[in-house]
Amino acid sequence: MISCEEATLICNKTQYKESSLLERIQLRLHVLVCKTCGKYTKMNTQLTELCTRAELHSLTEAEKQALKERIAHSSGIKDVQAPDDSQP
Ligand SMILES: [Zn+2]
Repeated sequence: MISCEEATLICNKTQYKESSLLERIQLRLHVLVCKTCGKYTKMNTQLTELCTRAELHSLTEAEKQALKERIAHSSGIKDVQAPDDSQP
């Protein structure tokens, strides 16, 4: 059985997809018996998922530029119409 220290290390490596299959199996076995590492692994996984999702919704450079131009354009006009509500 691996130690908590090793489990944490493997958990971190897993987040960066640097762990081997054997290491991931060892980690799984460890979290089955160690509640502390189980909690840590769960938190770490959720954090990674959150980062992955945030990445998916980040704007491209072109989209950012278009948005900037739109803001600059609308702020220069006095009678600004309400933004298009059809946008999600
Ligand atoms: Zn542990």
